[in-house]
Amino acid sequence: MSGRTFLAANWKMHLYPGEAEMLLQQLRLLEAEKGAWPFPVVVCPAHVYLSLAVERLSGTSLQVGAQNGYPGEFGAYTGEVSMAQLRAVGCTHVIVGHSERRQYFGEKGGLLQKKVQDAQARSLKVIYCIGETRAEREAGETFAILEGQLREALSRVDVAWDKLIIAYEPVWAIGTGLNATPQQAQEAHGFIREWLRKAGAPAEAVPILYGGSVKPANAEELFAQPDVDGGLVGGASLIAADFWAIAAALQKAKGALT
Ligand code: PEP
Repeated sequence: MSGRTFLAANWKMHLYPGEAEMLLQQLRLLEAEKGAWPFPVVVCPAHVYLSLAVERLSGTSLQVGAQNGYPGEFGAYTGEVSMAQLRAVGCTHVIVGHSERRQYFGEKGGLLQKKVQDAQARSLKVIYCIGETRAEREAGETFAILEGQLREALSRVDVAWDKLIIAYEPVWAIGTGLNATPQQAQEAHGFIREWLRKAGAPAEAVPILYGGSVKPANAEELFAQPDVDGGLVGGASLIAADFWAIAAALQKAKGALT
């Protein structure tokens, strides 16, 4: 297993309290029955369940991350939750730049850079998401889009590379059931690692996750690619057995690297 192997669950805006409680309980039980998850695994529920998740997953190997956070400590930003607050309630990670935040909330550029900087300054590890739309891919712009999204948040500032995880999530693959082919994923991940190298990052140490319709049936072939270090899993992470099966596929794909 490489030190880059990593898995994250993005529950998005799903689940009522009883359902969240049950899913957390199932994740706990899986660990109790089968042993600790063999690499870092982070569960990112909706904000209202963060404290519950921290409490219910304490004593397990699972960590808790937020799906979004705002730079700063406190302030008159109605409806926002600060990076400092996320850290204070026990989060270890935060997702920044998810395509749904870019698409529906207009997040880009300076704001994303501030989020990365502030989260890392408050000891949160950042899962920074990038990815092209279908139209951009069809226009042959995939690498230019990835480059721009990497540059807008990670250039011209000091980045704590040890607190950075990149997630390549082609927008056309998120929640659609249409995953990238292993070759498409490897090509994008290889490009991202090369960009990191040129940016002066310890590129061999930065996890690069694939996200976009990862399921038990396609996980192993995606994770078998040399630059695909794990996954950011949406829909399939809402079913404990599927999420465990995806973790098992990741272990199988990367086990040879032990
Ligand atoms: C995501 O939420 O980041 C994601 C990849 O979703 P899904 O696995 O449902 O495509």
